[in-house]
Amino acid sequence: MTRVALINPNWNYDGSIYFGCRSPHLPLELGISQHYLKEAGHQTLLLDAHMFGLSFSDLQSELRAFGPDMIVITTAPTYLFWRCAPPELRVPQQLALAVRDLAPMLVAVGPHGSTTPRATLKKLAVDIVVMGECEQSLLRLANGERDFAGLAFAENGAVHVNGAPQAVGFTDQPALDWPQEMIARHSHHHHRFEAEPIGPGAEVEASRGCPYNCTFCAKENFRNAYRKRPPAVLLEEIDRLRQRGVEYIYFIDEIFLPNPELLEGLVARGLKFGVQTRIDLWKPDMLKLLGRAGCVSIEAGIESLTPEGRASLAKNCKMTTEQLADRLVEARRHVPFVQANLIEMPQDDDPVVQRWRGRMQDAGVWANDPVPLYPYPGSPDYRKLWGEPDDFAWERAHKHYLAMFDQFSDVQEQRPVPLSELELQVAR
Ligand code: SF4
Repeated sequence: MTRVALINPNWNYDGSIYFGCRSPHLPLELGISQHYLKEAGHQTLLLDAHMFGLSFSDLQSELRAFGPDMIVITTAPTYLFWRCAPPELRVPQQLALAVRDLAPMLVAVGPHGSTTPRATLKKLAVDIVVMGECEQSLLRLANGERDFAGLAFAENGAVHVNGAPQAVGFTDQPALDWPQEMIARHSHHHHRFEAEPIGPGAEVEASRGCPYNCTFCAKENFRNAYRKRPPAVLLEEIDRLRQRGVEYIYFIDEIFLPNPELLEGLVARGLKFGVQTRIDLWKPDMLKLLGRAGCVSIEAGIESLTPEGRASLAKNCKMTTEQLADRLVEARRHVPFVQANLIEMPQDDDPVVQRWRGRMQDAGVWANDPVPLYPYPGSPDYRKLWGEPDDFAWERAHKHYLAMFDQFSDVQEQRPVPLSELELQVAR
């Protein structure tokens, strides 16, 4: 039996380019891992420093009392944001330093280690970096295995990278059961705008991965292949959340695809929920069912208003811009908040974009002011620019981004600063 502590850091995004939501969400990768570890007879302690506002001394006290053999730190604030994590490792670095002496083995999981394992190992000074989806690898580590693909570790002063990032089966993932005290703290309703929360929110993963390969999407090293869980298991997990008072769930799926059985199951449950998806994959009858099932928020990636722009992003979209607009308006008939995401593209003239945004807004659909692309290491865009990510991939992408754009998305209140100013510097 191994004693495993799983820690979600207390995130702080000052000076970061981070585009994602800053509120605490359920740390799904840790919750799922904890399930498998417990099932195998290991002792676990999940510490969500973000949700509970835990300081380093709070964490240290908890860890001293628990006495872990292995501490796991995630480098992204929940699976929802692995594809758009904060590029800097500042917060996990500080946490790793604070807990370094409290367990014989320190392990990092997340998108950074999955894409740039050597740099992540050195920056965090951890013993092992898990590459790819982490649930099964953490279980194998707890079981005492060390020699398997998907790990990076230091030995005799050299870094070894064993194989490539791993994916888990996922389709057999059982219904999770989150502790009441965690749900009670989860007041945030992710991407919900049509009403104020009256009960707790939660995140659920119905499917993982996506069959598309948009050039800007950093999913190749994790959450890549499309897999989905059986509706009956999902509904069991959702019922447990309802019993804990949850009013709203957000499906973190990269692409929430039409799933009549799941949606029919949700109709009777009276929950509200939000999704991110591609609107071109939803027919009008399924949008109607989506609304009846309780969907109150859709975020749909349109990205570009020209076929050339969408083609250059490899969107593989079969619809015209007019058809996409019609489908968004159709969605809005059934769902109270519909957002069309746009990316700043050279193919799209600004006056045309602004007119389209106005037209959409008149029809009740929110379309964002186009945001510039960050060439995430692990995305096809990064590879097109610089080849496979090396130890300086995050620094390179960051420098490029800061140099190219002087306007940033509206969640970024201050101008982001270079990675070298955000992270503790280590020899590489
Ligand atoms: S549709 Fe494109 S952007 Fe969305 S998850 Fe799939 S590959 Fe990524």
